[in-house]
Amino acid sequence: MKSLSSLVLCLVFSVAAQAQTALKPPAESALDRFLRYARIDTQSQEDQTTTPSTRKQLNLANLLAKELTALGAQNVRVSEFGIVYAVIPGNLPDNSKVPVIGFIAHMDTSPAVSGENVNPIIHKNYQGGDIALPKDSTQVITEAKNPVLKTLIGDDIITADGTTLLGSDDKSGCAEIMTMIDTLKQNPQVKHGTIAVAFTPDEEVGTGIDKFDVKAFGAKFAYTVDGEDLGEISDETWSARTATVTFQGKSTHPGTAKGIMVNAMYAVADYLNRFPHDMLPETTEGRVGFVHPYAGTIDVETSTLKILLRDFDVSGLDAKEKLLRDMVAQTSDKFPEVKISIEVKENYKNMKEVLKNFPDLTNNAMEAARRAGLKPFLKPIRGGTDGSNLTFRGLPTPNLFTGGTNFHGKLEFNSRCGLEKTTETLINLVQIFAEKS
Ligand SMILES: [Zn+2]
Repeated sequence: MKSLSSLVLCLVFSVAAQAQTALKPPAESALDRFLRYARIDTQSQEDQTTTPSTRKQLNLANLLAKELTALGAQNVRVSEFGIVYAVIPGNLPDNSKVPVIGFIAHMDTSPAVSGENVNPIIHKNYQGGDIALPKDSTQVITEAKNPVLKTLIGDDIITADGTTLLGSDDKSGCAEIMTMIDTLKQNPQVKHGTIAVAFTPDEEVGTGIDKFDVKAFGAKFAYTVDGEDLGEISDETWSARTATVTFQGKSTHPGTAKGIMVNAMYAVADYLNRFPHDMLPETTEGRVGFVHPYAGTIDVETSTLKILLRDFDVSGLDAKEKLLRDMVAQTSDKFPEVKISIEVKENYKNMKEVLKNFPDLTNNAMEAARRAGLKPFLKPIRGGTDGSNLTFRGLPTPNLFTGGTNFHGKLEFNSRCGLEKTTETLINLVQIFAEKS
């Protein structure tokens, strides 16, 4: 939810910014930068053995490295895994007094929808109503399904043409971080400590961040810039486990099966019927966790079910695991000849477990958004982020908004205001760390 009109916010901010700081604009606007990045195909691919999963992600990586160098960044490099690292030197009398803050965005786009020949379209001075995408009339961004549109009157909305995704996730984050660096370069009067930046491949397929070199990055804390609505800040993710339940029956020729065959499939049906209906992805939202049977194989002899367990609290996750194990016992009682076993694996943990010890990270981000005229709010992520991985590897990393909406689909969009307000927030954030140190 954007609680105030973004247009109003943009105007309010512009006036406030001129009154207070009179920042010189960046050499290239966040919007123009975003449009350039969005046109570069960086779609990642599942089930690849290499990082990056697709070579084309290097096109954007190399471009960003070149632009970082031109903007005066130091130690700019593209790693063997296609991760771009760079450092923006601080401009304080003693930079060592301010913690090195990192900003991270991912370069790849979702494998779910094509990212080839993305043709970004600017709907200038949006005046309300549904937005039909020109190349496919069945693709319509409706007011009914996108209440955020009401807050974008007068803004310039950016969409794809209906045949591809836009790639706002996460080219917006890339453009916003780069425009922050550009703006800082134009405004040496803005005081900040050392800033580390990184652009990563393969976020969407979950493999890029494993190759991230936390030590070489050199930051004490970081932010991923990969969220959605303006003001949305996340320092919580799911804690996640996956269960595999195996049902072992006995197969034989059906013509001579009497008294011999044990059909595991009936036990699977019984087990599935025991799932509580109020604890499923399709019946829960907000802070309520779920269990989710999402895949399986059905066979007389051996059947398996794969089940996701998700909760924000470990105790809630433990309860869900107990539930699945109790259900195994109940189905086993009913089908004593089917051998049922359950194996549960941990996938990732709620980053709040670590971030609760670093409240300034969230508080400073909230303050930075407020200074940009936004109304920040905390939103737990019903999923994982690269930040949760990094947080448990020693780099506490909450997630910040980008202004984007409808990720991973053809109806994805962002706006000029979304890009600019996020950039302003990042600039405010580095100043706040400098002020508070
Ligand atoms: Zn993303």
